[in-house]
Amino acid sequence: MTVRLVIFGRQGAGKGTQCVNIVKTYGVAHISTGDMLRAAVGAGTDMGLRAKEVMDSGGLVGDDIMNGIVADRLSEPDAAGPGFVLDGYPRTQPQAEALLSILGDESLDAVINLDVPLDEVTARMKSRGREDDTDEAIERRLALYEQETRPVLDFFDKQGLLVTVDGLGTEEEVSSRLILAVNELL
Ligand code: AMP
Repeated sequence: MTVRLVIFGRQGAGKGTQCVNIVKTYGVAHISTGDMLRAAVGAGTDMGLRAKEVMDSGGLVGDDIMNGIVADRLSEPDAAGPGFVLDGYPRTQPQAEALLSILGDESLDAVINLDVPLDEVTARMKSRGREDDTDEAIERRLALYEQETRPVLDFFDKQGLLVTVDGLGTEEEVSSRLILAVNELL
């Protein structure tokens, strides 16, 4: 069985944590664009150096770069085999359209919106202590989420792919809600 998912939600909604549980349950590849960019920063590649500045300021890395990274990753065999969960991509309408064209007929099974209110994600980000979590960067990322990323939810909703899961509660509670929702779809 192949499982192709996108996990959606504000930064701080717990997407990364929940992806670990999705990977355990379905054996899919976890494709986190944030992790891939951080790896490029760590390796000191040209792309990493350019991305770092954008990431530190809470901005979004350009669509062409992101679409290229994801297209490359999705062409690896594990993504075709067990499948994947995309985490942190797509974040803009052009990225959403690029993803659907990369996937072609083998489209997504579901886009899961891990729903956590604004005040809660703000508090979580302030306490996680990541290097790019300055007050200004947090504010900018949340504003960009509303402007650029939320419209992508409506786009997937119109395609009948969107499933919203309440992201409040313990990791285990959220995880069982999520797995239940995915199982219902498959
Ligand atoms: P994340 O780990 O998903 O919170 O991503 C960390 C940072 O990487 C974001 O604040 C963005 O600057 C950048 N980033 C990750 N994914 C994307 C994407 N799909 N489009 C643009 N920028 C991204």
